[in-house]
Amino acid sequence: MSNAVEDLTMQIAQVVPCTEAEGPGRRFALWFQGCPLRCPGCCNPEFLSFKGGQTKTLGEMTEWLARTQEESGIEGITLLGGEPFAHASAALSLAKVARLRGLSVMVFSGFTIEELQTRQEPEVAELIATTDILVDGPYIREQPDTERRWIGSRNQRIHFLTPRYYYDQQWRQKNTLEIRVDRDGISVNGFPAADAVGLWKGWKRKKPVALPTVDRDLAPAKPGFTAAPSTDTNRTQGTETQ
Ligand code: SF4
Repeated sequence: MSNAVEDLTMQIAQVVPCTEAEGPGRRFALWFQGCPLRCPGCCNPEFLSFKGGQTKTLGEMTEWLARTQEESGIEGITLLGGEPFAHASAALSLAKVARLRGLSVMVFSGFTIEELQTRQEPEVAELIATTDILVDGPYIREQPDTERRWIGSRNQRIHFLTPRYYYDQQWRQKNTLEIRVDRDGISVNGFPAADAVGLWKGWKRKKPVALPTVDRDLAPAKPGFTAAPSTDTNRTQGTETQ
C-alpha cells in the first residue's frame, strides 16, 4: 500500500477484533461512527452521530487486522454501524484489505440493496462487489427476528453475493450476545435473546476501543432460499428470503 492509501482516515465507533456474534465464524467486527438513518429502537444510538468516535488510519486498521488474523484465526471482517455505506470509501478500503488477506467480508446496512444500487458513488457499487454477505434493510423493532442468527428484524434480507457462504445450519442457531469486561468498562455486541433485552442497561458502555499495545454442520437450505443470477456475471447471488 502506498503511504497516501495507508493515511486514509476513518471514523470508528467500536472494534471487537475477534467475535462470534457478528456473522459466521470468528470475525473482526468494526462499527463506523455515523448513520443517516434513525430506526426506532436502534441498539447503537451512540453510534448515530457523525461526530465522535475515534479517527484511525487505514494503515493502523490494516496492522490490527493482520495481527488479529495471525493470533485469532479470524475468517473474515464484519462492517456495521453506524452505516457502513455512509463511510463507503473507508469501508471499501477495509474490504479490499480483507480480501487481499483471504478474509471474507460481511456488511450490515440499513439501506436495501435496491436503494444502494441507485447510488451514484462508484465506491458504493464497488463495496457491494467486494462483499460476500450483505444484510440489508432498516431495523424494525416490531419485527424481531427469532429464527435467523445475527439478524435483527424479519424484514432484513441476507444476500449471499459470492459462493463463499450460503444459508446453512449455523444461521438457524440461537443468537449470541458477547459481553466483555475489562479495566476500561463493559462492551456488548451481538443480539440478545428476547428475554435478555436491556439486561445490561445502566451499565456504562465502554468508550470506543483504542488500538491495543499488548495486549458448523450443513443442512438443507431453509425453504424460501432462492439462488438467482447475480448482476455481476462472474458471481452467483443467493438471497435468503422470508
Ligand atoms: S441503520 Fe442501523 S445504526 Fe442506523 S439507525 Fe438503523 S439500526 Fe441504527
